[in-house]
Amino acid sequence: MPSAACPLHPQAELIPVVEGAADRFWGCDGAFDYGRCPECGTWVLDPRPAPSAIGPFYAHYYSEAELAQARRAYGGLPSSRAFGIDKMRAQQVIARLKRLGATLDGRRLLDVGCGLGGFARAMRALAGMVVRGADFDPKCVAIGAELHGIEVDAGELAGLAYPEGTYDVVSSWHCLEHTYDPAAELAEMARITRPGGWLVLEVPTPSVWARVFRGRWFFLQAPTHLYHLRPATLRTLLRQSGWAPVRMERPWAATELAGSVVMALGLTGFAPRLLFGPKGLAAHLWRLLFWALLPLDLVVTGVQAALGRGGVLRVYARRDEA
Ligand SMILES: [Zn+2]
Repeated sequence: MPSAACPLHPQAELIPVVEGAADRFWGCDGAFDYGRCPECGTWVLDPRPAPSAIGPFYAHYYSEAELAQARRAYGGLPSSRAFGIDKMRAQQVIARLKRLGATLDGRRLLDVGCGLGGFARAMRALAGMVVRGADFDPKCVAIGAELHGIEVDAGELAGLAYPEGTYDVVSSWHCLEHTYDPAAELAEMARITRPGGWLVLEVPTPSVWARVFRGRWFFLQAPTHLYHLRPATLRTLLRQSGWAPVRMERPWAATELAGSVVMALGLTGFAPRLLFGPKGLAAHLWRLLFWALLPLDLVVTGVQAALGRGGVLRVYARRDEA
């Protein structure tokens, strides 16, 4: 497997921080190492699968079980309505962008790494934006059309070659950490955003629980998470890529603790086994344990967020005026 480096400090020799970690989130085979950049604290998957070899690690994304769950949630829901975490995120983003002076109604949004398309739908439903999605998984094209009537382009962002300055807002939820070159990804997002337009981006970041649980940290998600950026690193990458970071938040990342605990207790395949079926006794017991841990999780992760130490980093940045 090719070696990797901190996107900001490519010369720095990484300090081992996770060794031989399994893919506890999706349950794919393999053992993975992360190193910590001595300059900025960013975690880097090193070595990492070549882009041509990463595909199998996404095999469990958008399974039939996950789609059936989404169909139940969205089936019959009028297109003017949103649902669940997508609705919550959209409400928060709309309130924040309006406070920052953005106009949204009728403006164009691209959600990069749109997955099932729920966030784009929510921005259309709640803010009247004209929305589109992009995702490297070709399954998302049919899903976006079926669940939300949203057009999704399949491919890596750079390959989609949208015209310069097309979008008023680019959003990206938990996607940048999957990209091989985050600086290039941010620069491409800037190129396709009009001057003065906005970026809303969220990624996991090494929190206190990352340091405690290491290979069993909920957000580690080896080997699909290639980086876990520290706030200052992301801020610098944004500035170098044509963005002015306006606001950084560490919002409430519920389930970070409960998810880490069940993984530490031995659960492998958190998403396919606990979130999207199956129905066996073992799966029920894991689910029961996870739900039992959730009240504690909500309190602890809530306090973490209140202290500005949550496990995710949400950024609002403005495209530099030309
Ligand atoms: Zn670094």
